[in-house]
Amino acid sequence: MNFTRAKIRDLRKMLDGGEISAAELCGEYFKNIEEKDEKLLSYITVTKDQAMKAAENAQKLISEGNAKTLTGIPLAIKDNICTDGIKTTCASKMLGDFIPPYNATVIEKLNEQGYILLGKTSMDEFAMGGSTQTSAFAKTKNPYDLERVPGGSSGGSAAAVAASLAPAALGSDTGGSIRQPSSFCGVTGLKPTYGRVSRYGLVAFASSLDQIGPIANDARDCALMLNVISGNDRHDATSARAEVPDFTEKLGKPISGIKIALPKEFYSDAIDDTVKQHVMNAAKELEKQGAVLVDCSMPGLKYAIPAYYLIACAEAASNLSRFDGIKYGFRGEGRTFNELIIDSRNKGFGEEVKRRILLGNYALSSGYYDAYYKKALALKQEIIKEYSDIFAECDVILTPTAPTPAYKIGAQDNDPVKMYMADICTVTVNIAGLPGISTTCGYTENKLPIGMSIIGKRFDEQTILQIADAWEQGFEPVAPKF
Ligand code: GLN
Repeated sequence: MNFTRAKIRDLRKMLDGGEISAAELCGEYFKNIEEKDEKLLSYITVTKDQAMKAAENAQKLISEGNAKTLTGIPLAIKDNICTDGIKTTCASKMLGDFIPPYNATVIEKLNEQGYILLGKTSMDEFAMGGSTQTSAFAKTKNPYDLERVPGGSSGGSAAAVAASLAPAALGSDTGGSIRQPSSFCGVTGLKPTYGRVSRYGLVAFASSLDQIGPIANDARDCALMLNVISGNDRHDATSARAEVPDFTEKLGKPISGIKIALPKEFYSDAIDDTVKQHVMNAAKELEKQGAVLVDCSMPGLKYAIPAYYLIACAEAASNLSRFDGIKYGFRGEGRTFNELIIDSRNKGFGEEVKRRILLGNYALSSGYYDAYYKKALALKQEIIKEYSDIFAECDVILTPTAPTPAYKIGAQDNDPVKMYMADICTVTVNIAGLPGISTTCGYTENKLPIGMSIIGKRFDEQTILQIADAWEQGFEPVAPKF
């Protein structure tokens, strides 16, 4: 049997029809992991023993005819989502030995389904980055070209799905970390509306921006995963009470009359020509299916990067102050209380994390708060307003996911600002709390995937899934040769 880029729903049929057992299915993915992950480095922890036990339980449910959507489906989970009894490192030395005593709410929900954990995937340290190269444990590579980055920060999850080391995965997205690696690795990733999915048990980076979401082989599988992980949670005060619809409901329905906005600032000179071309081709395809393309403008995009990095770093500085070497996590040395904290944080955190803590504390300090943090909050309001003006006229917005395809490992190592600028297409979606999905719209001449993003109104994941699916029905993705 061939499990290359296998879809969850096909695996469901195979399991329910008795063509394969849950244990055999898991075994197939572990075989792939054992063969390929030495080179790809997508996992930090592989949980084979636990998985085989979980497969037995799942098999019972399946044999009794009590299977749910994800019963017996093996999944990979980003290593910043807490798993009871299983190491959750955030790809940081600071949490290198951290074993959470509880599950994130999304994991509880997956457990209720009888899913099977394959392992925990690599990421940029504390989800800060867009390349997965700041991981302290596994600098994941792009399966389409091992000399290139898989994107990030959920690069482990995206690379694992792209290389068929998992049929689907969970990632987290603070400023693009689900969508951008999905675009670099040629898979589909959805960042839900802020509040749609509980953040309880997700190690916080920037709490007003973070969301957990699925990375899968197509929009349909993302919808299935979203159905399971969504919903209000009493453990997360920011989780929304909004009703959870069936996210598969609009899939396959005609898209005629749906208005797709194309804000010109997303198609500026900062974006590679090849990327623009492919996204525009896809727009034209959608137009052929009856969608209406609408030109518009989002002048506030030029403030997106400073606004995002000020807000994200300020919140990160505050969130990461808990890592003091005393309560849990890495412990350094020192005779006094202060020396111990300084040494623990100095040795426990990597360079990028430290840079952001410094930036965040600076922006929040009394002399600079008004000049930086308060201005960033004003820009946030402006960005929200510009989105709502566009959504007053249109149903969704179509943009590139990233300015370029996957770049060479090391290319942005010495230039953090250049790396930050590469987030231009994704960060405003988090600032405004909107849902966004990235799907592959083509390949470059040297066969690197190019992604496009569909952004929706708050809590309207159904429509962005519908549009992504409408495109995917006529598109043949190419699996990496690796
Ligand atoms: N690349 C962005 C950053 O470095 C986004 C990260 C994320 O979404 N976690 O902050």
